[in-house]
Amino acid sequence: MAVLAMTPEVRELRIRARDLMDRLVYPNEARLEREDDEAEALVKELRAKVRAAGLWAPHIGPEAGGSGRGFVAYAFLNELIGRSAWAPLIFGCQAPDAGNAEILHLLGTGDQRRRWLAPLVAGDVRSFFSMTEPEVSGSDPTGLRTTAVRVGDDWVIDGHKWFSSGAEGAAFGIVMAVTDPDAEPHRRTSQIIVPATTPGVEIVRAIPVLGHRGRGWSTHCEIRYTGVRVPVANTVGAPGDGFRIAQKRLGPGRIHHVMRWLGQMQRAFELMCGYALERQAFGGPLAAKQTVQNWVADSAAEIQACRLLTLDAAARIDQGDEARVEISAVKFYAARVLHDVVDRAVQVHGALGLTDQTPLARMYADARAARLYDGPDEVHRMVVSRRVLRAFEQGEVWDFADGGPRRGPGGLKASPPVDRGPAPAGTPE
Ligand SMILES: Cc1cc2nc3c(=O)[nH]c(=O)nc-3n(C[C@H](O)[C@H](O)[C@H](O)COP(=O)(O)OP(=O)(O)OC[C@H]3O[C@@H](n4cnc5c(N)ncnc54)[C@H](O)[C@@H]3O)c2cc1C
Repeated sequence: MAVLAMTPEVRELRIRARDLMDRLVYPNEARLEREDDEAEALVKELRAKVRAAGLWAPHIGPEAGGSGRGFVAYAFLNELIGRSAWAPLIFGCQAPDAGNAEILHLLGTGDQRRRWLAPLVAGDVRSFFSMTEPEVSGSDPTGLRTTAVRVGDDWVIDGHKWFSSGAEGAAFGIVMAVTDPDAEPHRRTSQIIVPATTPGVEIVRAIPVLGHRGRGWSTHCEIRYTGVRVPVANTVGAPGDGFRIAQKRLGPGRIHHVMRWLGQMQRAFELMCGYALERQAFGGPLAAKQTVQNWVADSAAEIQACRLLTLDAAARIDQGDEARVEISAVKFYAARVLHDVVDRAVQVHGALGLTDQTPLARMYADARAARLYDGPDEVHRMVVSRRVLRAFEQGEVWDFADGGPRRGPGGLKASPPVDRGPAPAGTPE
């Protein structure tokens, strides 16, 4: 296990973040939820206040224009920010921009960083990540069909994507395309920066998700790329690295999501407990019913388990570990806990839980999507079980306390039956 202490510095940061949430975010949620021109102007105004408070872009370090202090510090902070669906946008650490920024920071050339990363982290522009296609399984990106063919010093991109979140109004996207169809499956694709205004980029529609179309940042777009020409210099990393970079991008991105979900779970939990104590039925508060007490106890234990899994994965990333198993484990586990905790909170609220008078209905829709985006539950279970079983196949054991595989006896095998001789007379068979 990694060390998971909250340092005095992080504790102080959380006090400041909580204050900003109380003053700037919660009182404005209803106005932001309208997603109109006024809401857009309000986002700008609130962002300026977060910047002035020194908490802007906490996912990335000062060398890239943020205020980040590593993954563990961000986990503690992002749990608070994640309590509101709008706060990540206001603190400048929203998906998918945060993940794109990390990749450009890690792998971008000097020119890419100046041109794309700097304005992205500054909050002057937004971006999207365009990998999933309607025609093939998004869980298995080795089957992607979008192509980028090299013509001179340019790529010419043709393809069809969907669920490119935030593409409406974004300045650029990172598009995953097949650049070498004859290479082995994991070396076929590249990630290419595509300015949204390039001729041939067509946003077909913003796809309504559980009835919500969204606007700008909150959209999920279907996009056609037809003869889209961009310089080869827009390749992120080397050609053929697309799959490897996707793993790099999505790993930390998944942990960012889980940090936010912790905030959502915690807020739903607090709403559930508060309402259970207040609402009277059958001669007493709902909190006196054992079913509700079980929901409170289960939720408390599950939320804390998610928090510890998240902090452990974050600490590993800070130590330079890819933490693939830890990230996949917490991604599928926390998505389910988020869903279950919000579901219980809705149930305790009765019909009120489905209205827009509490944040629960919105949380519920988001929680359902969480089990799919950045890889469905089943794929993350597959990643965990494959890696764990591979260790055993190789004569090792997988021990989470040691942080993964270690040489060992290969697990405890069942002992052969012991011959104890004939049973004494009168012993039941
Ligand atoms: C709200 C939202 C936002 C998104 N944002 C983005 C984005 O910004 N950019 C982007 O590129 N994509 C985005 N996505 C797409 C998302 O990443 C894909 O939906 C996801 O990877 C699954 O791909 P798929 O939808 O094609 O499902 P498929 O791959 O077709 O899978 C369908 C189902 O098959 C099952 N399945 C798949 N593999 C296995 C397995 N190995 N074992 C058992 N069962 C399996 C799972 O139950 C899965 O749900 C977003 C999705 C949502 C819902």
